[in-house]
Amino acid sequence: PEAITIQELANRMAEKGADLVKALFKMGTPVTINDVIDQDTAELLVEEFGHRIQRVSESDIEIGIEGDQDAPETLKPRAPVVTIMGHVDHGKTSLLDALRGTDVVRGEAGGITQHIGAYQVKTKGGDIITFLDTPGHEAFTEMRARGANVTDIVILVVAADDGLMPQTIEAINHTKAAGVPMIVAINKVDKPEANPQRIRERLLEHEIVVEDLGGDVQDVQVSALKKTGLDELIEKILLQAELLELTANPDRAAEGNVIEAKLDKGRGPVATVLVRRGTLKVGDNFVVGAESGKVRAMVNDKGENVKVAGPSAPVEVLGLSGVPMAGDQLSVVENEARAREVAAYRSELATKKRTTAAPTSVEHMFSALN
Ligand code: GDP
Ligand code: MG
Repeated sequence: PEAITIQELANRMAEKGADLVKALFKMGTPVTINDVIDQDTAELLVEEFGHRIQRVSESDIEIGIEGDQDAPETLKPRAPVVTIMGHVDHGKTSLLDALRGTDVVRGEAGGITQHIGAYQVKTKGGDIITFLDTPGHEAFTEMRARGANVTDIVILVVAADDGLMPQTIEAINHTKAAGVPMIVAINKVDKPEANPQRIRERLLEHEIVVEDLGGDVQDVQVSALKKTGLDELIEKILLQAELLELTANPDRAAEGNVIEAKLDKGRGPVATVLVRRGTLKVGDNFVVGAESGKVRAMVNDKGENVKVAGPSAPVEVLGLSGVPMAGDQLSVVENEARAREVAAYRSELATKKRTTAAPTSVEHMFSALN
């Protein structure tokens, strides 16, 4: 159908009709629940409510809502995704490097380090942990602002010789806002002036109570420089991950988020994608933000070409129409035509959003209210 009533659309989205009316009102389109709206408006609403459009085919366009939940029996355990935050110079980069060095796959020899924005470590026990290699609060908040809550666990790095600094407190606040569990890594304990206990006490002022002081936040003393405490930190990450019971359905069309993206001179647009669920395969057609593409090749953090990438795996994806933005969602779709169609629709939507953000919609609201 080319048109649909608000009520019927609401039913399909499992939303309240009144909420749709309200949303349209805000967009400057006063309607009642039984009014018929056109295709474009309906699609705008569907997106607005965080659902996805399902077009049956170009000639027989229909708005349906894709089921967003995977059935419980399809879920399998997945690796935790960890972000390291903390004040500048407290040792984020050093710790990331030290943890990367514990990877049993890479081995002592070191292998080639491919910077793709994230990497995976295989522990001695065979568990996998994904680390986002972009320390920094901006990346974290920007991703969250774009609706991509990709981090399962935050490691807060605090230098034992320094204390809680402005960016430490910022990191605490971001982590709390995201509702993500935190592990405190008290770093630089090799330094003579290190005072880990003082850090634990200072954390109390921010309602971070570590286990030793009767709380439930795990902490660990490390030296990224001397590589001490790393095994214990990994153990605590795995323990925290177990509590979170992290799962995903690996046997479905892949979905993921862009960690970083760039235009590569030789290879064209490339994006590091963290797969959230499903399995991304070479040859898959996808839409990512307002771009589309077909996976031409995938490269992992060890610089190896891979054919598939499952939940929690970060991979560099080649074969994009353009450079997407960090946080953008990648979704595999059934064919190239569909990928282009959705990408075109999304850029149209972005333009629309920009134009409907004009003051006219506010005026509308006021005139209707008075
Ligand atoms: P970032 O800004 O948080 O990424 O911090 P860096 O990893 O760049 O570290 C800042 C400085 O602290 C560097 O000079 C590191 O060598 C040093 N550093 C990092 N970890 C340790 C540690 O465990 N012990 C000592 N003594 N120095 C460290
Ligand atoms: Mg750094």
